[in-house]
Amino acid sequence: MTTTVEPVQHEQPIEHRARYGDREFRYHLCHVPGYQRRSIRVHVHPNGTVQVDAPEDSPLSEIKAAVQRRARWVLKHLDDIEQRHRDLLPRQWVSGESVLYLGRRYVLKTIKDTEQRKVTCKLISGQLRVIGHDLTPERIQAAVQQWYRERASDVFQRRLNLMVDALPWLKTPPEWRMVAMQTQWGSCAASGAILLNPHLVKAPTRAIDYVLLHELCHLVEHNHSPRFYNLLDRFMPDWRSVKERLDGQAEVILHKSGK
Ligand SMILES: [Zn+2]
Repeated sequence: MTTTVEPVQHEQPIEHRARYGDREFRYHLCHVPGYQRRSIRVHVHPNGTVQVDAPEDSPLSEIKAAVQRRARWVLKHLDDIEQRHRDLLPRQWVSGESVLYLGRRYVLKTIKDTEQRKVTCKLISGQLRVIGHDLTPERIQAAVQQWYRERASDVFQRRLNLMVDALPWLKTPPEWRMVAMQTQWGSCAASGAILLNPHLVKAPTRAIDYVLLHELCHLVEHNHSPRFYNLLDRFMPDWRSVKERLDGQAEVILHKSGK
């Protein structure tokens, strides 16, 4: 005689907890009826909920072990979601907020110095220090924006100078200007005038190089023809993945209140 155990149907997913080091996260366990796979799948949804899909007959111990093996990965995703959320909040321009520069995150630190009339910015050991007297959010924002423009100007020029050596059609660094744009990293007019977005200095150097190369290729090929892409491929074979990562960060980099 055989006994069959009726699989329990859960209307609502069951909540469990997992621990990793000194951290804990909750996850919803969904027993998926007719789930043929033997594997237990762990998803982190963009809203930060963790869902675990398992076949109906998986023992809980097996599910817990599977979640444990993915715990580090889950926490990394949850941290990324939280950071992204913070990045998109309106900026207050106060100590503790984070600022991006060349793909790295720095902590904004405001330091009151009654001797100093002009507000200055300095990048030191993981911090962007804004120093001055009378540090209102408006003055801090203006100083940081000015600092970004100066850094952008310097970084873009240095990268362009390096490209003159690499690109056979360039004899001298091209003329360019900075223009803050909402939806574009750069542009190149038919006349050869290159515009670059100062916000791009928040992105990693490789991404900056990709944008510069893209615009410089337009000096030879004015549209996005196959010949244009051949040029890009030749001078930056991995440009697609660099572009994809950069575009994935666009929302944070071009964040309106994070100028
Ligand atoms: Zn283009």
